[in-house]
Amino acid sequence: TRTLQKGALSVRFDHVTFSYQDKKILDELTFEVPAGTSFGLVGRTGAGKSTIAHLMFRMYDPVQGRVLLGEVDTRDATLSSLRSQVGFVTQDVQVFDATLRENLTFFDRSVDDSLLLSVLDTLELRPWLDGLPDGLSSRISPSSLSAGQAQLLALARVFLKDPGLVILDEPSSKLDLVTEAMVERALDRMLAGRTSIIIAHRLDTILRTDHTLVLSQGAVVEHGVTADL
Ligand code: ATP
Ligand code: MG
Repeated sequence: TRTLQKGALSVRFDHVTFSYQDKKILDELTFEVPAGTSFGLVGRTGAGKSTIAHLMFRMYDPVQGRVLLGEVDTRDATLSSLRSQVGFVTQDVQVFDATLRENLTFFDRSVDDSLLLSVLDTLELRPWLDGLPDGLSSRISPSSLSAGQAQLLALARVFLKDPGLVILDEPSSKLDLVTEAMVERALDRMLAGRTSIIIAHRLDTILRTDHTLVLSQGAVVEHGVTADL
């Protein structure tokens, strides 16, 4: 086993085939994301976008082929280094019936409040925090957060880890315009110096990425510089 290096990670899918049971989802998929660049992954519902994200986060292994983070095959990477170096914001954010602090840290008591506050600042969540009755100790629950707030919570969780690779699965699908603008400003600041994968249904939500891959039924339809597509 190997430890993933700190810092921006390149990603390489090398002839990756993946099936759920006997249903083939990805067929010899090959692409590369250079370290420190942003990458858009676009395709219709069911195209296989989240599956690609799951393979990077090693929720599954490929049936054939390799997924490389930096030079390391995900199968050889220690799961702890992979999970700390890869930040994954899923389509459905899990909110616990617990304090805001516990929700941010996943109940890890070793994380300093000052770090939590600085991440909340960067996400422009300080006014929201100041409006809560007990600051970081305020109790929150799935029903007390809007979809936008849950999304921002998920971003805060990810950036607390200071990951070298960030995967955002449909980051703006449930956001109103004001929250979406907040998220965009936060991402401008927080994605700098990292590799990022932004998943979306439509090209117009990933216009600011460097490269884009358009996927249909597990196969590449287009792949190139985003501005040229
Ligand atoms: P969306 O835009 O709706 O999020 P997607 O591009 O992320 O779609 P995936 O979630 O990767 O698509 O799914 C690709 C295919 O794999 C779909 O046909 C889906 O039904 C199937 N699939 C996804 N997860 C599973 C699973 N756990 N078991 C079986 N089939 C699955
Ligand atoms: Mg998906």
